[in-house]
Amino acid sequence: MADLAIGITGAAGRMGRALICAAHEAAGCHVAAASERAGQAALGQDAGTLAGLEALGIAVVADAAQLFAAAGAVLDFTAPVACVTHAALAAETGTIFITGTTGLDAAQQEAIALAAQKTVVVQAPNFSVGVNLALALTEQAARVLDDSFDIEIVEMHHRHKVDAPSGTALGLGRAAAAGRGVDLDKVSQRGRDGITGERKPGTIGFASLRGGDVIGDHTAVFAGAGERIEITHKAGGREIFAAGAVRAALWAVGKKPGLYSMQDVLGFTR
Ligand code: NAD
Repeated sequence: MADLAIGITGAAGRMGRALICAAHEAAGCHVAAASERAGQAALGQDAGTLAGLEALGIAVVADAAQLFAAAGAVLDFTAPVACVTHAALAAETGTIFITGTTGLDAAQQEAIALAAQKTVVVQAPNFSVGVNLALALTEQAARVLDDSFDIEIVEMHHRHKVDAPSGTALGLGRAAAAGRGVDLDKVSQRGRDGITGERKPGTIGFASLRGGDVIGDHTAVFAGAGERIEITHKAGGREIFAAGAVRAALWAVGKKPGLYSMQDVLGFTR
């Protein structure tokens, strides 16, 4: 089978650079194109040098259509508006679309689902294998532990993160809600401040901490009377997400159009 040509949007971003390295190093694929938003300082630079590798002979372009023309799969870790534009281009060109961009609102999420009617889309709030195992364990714990265990999701990220709770924290909340057979939107408790009253039974609480250079810590807490279970994942480097995204791209080759998750890629049944 021919090597998979990978395009990376947001190439100069924290994830973009990690994705260039991962796609360059993985077997079965190569970096074929890289893009950035208009005005970004990295435009015209070599994607390899940008990521701290040797020059790859691939210049970072502003024209996303040019990127999609050169790629069999596009990895998108950018921002919600850009992600929606890129998903539409993926649908138009039949390109595999792997997206880890978080913070999408309902309409933007709908646009991703629409694109997935035309092409293979893998979307995950977190592409690390360890986090996806934590998601599966959280769902299982919520299924076993009844309402007498209060569920709280705690996350901490670096000071530059712009959305909260993190996509992964929401994913853990959804996994817990699925385990309990409830709708997260109906039981979610976002943030507490002042005289909040007692905790409502059956709710799933979220707390977000921001600071320093923390890449991503997540804990699902199940607090009962006399015991507490905590399922924790700590990310030590962005390469875990990048490697997962490349793995998803290689998995997606030959799949039918549809919206897939990292759980599908890893073969976890949920
Ligand atoms: P970042 O700000 O460092 O990088 C984003 C890059 O996208 C920037 O360089 C920006 O210029 C670029 N960009 C914005 N609009 C663009 C456009 N129209 N075309 C091309 N490039 C464009 O952010 P980051 O830390 O790399 O995170 C990016 C996204 O990925 C965030 O939503 C973050 O939450 C998410 N993320 C997801 C996972 C996961 O596993 N799902 C892991 C880490 C980060």
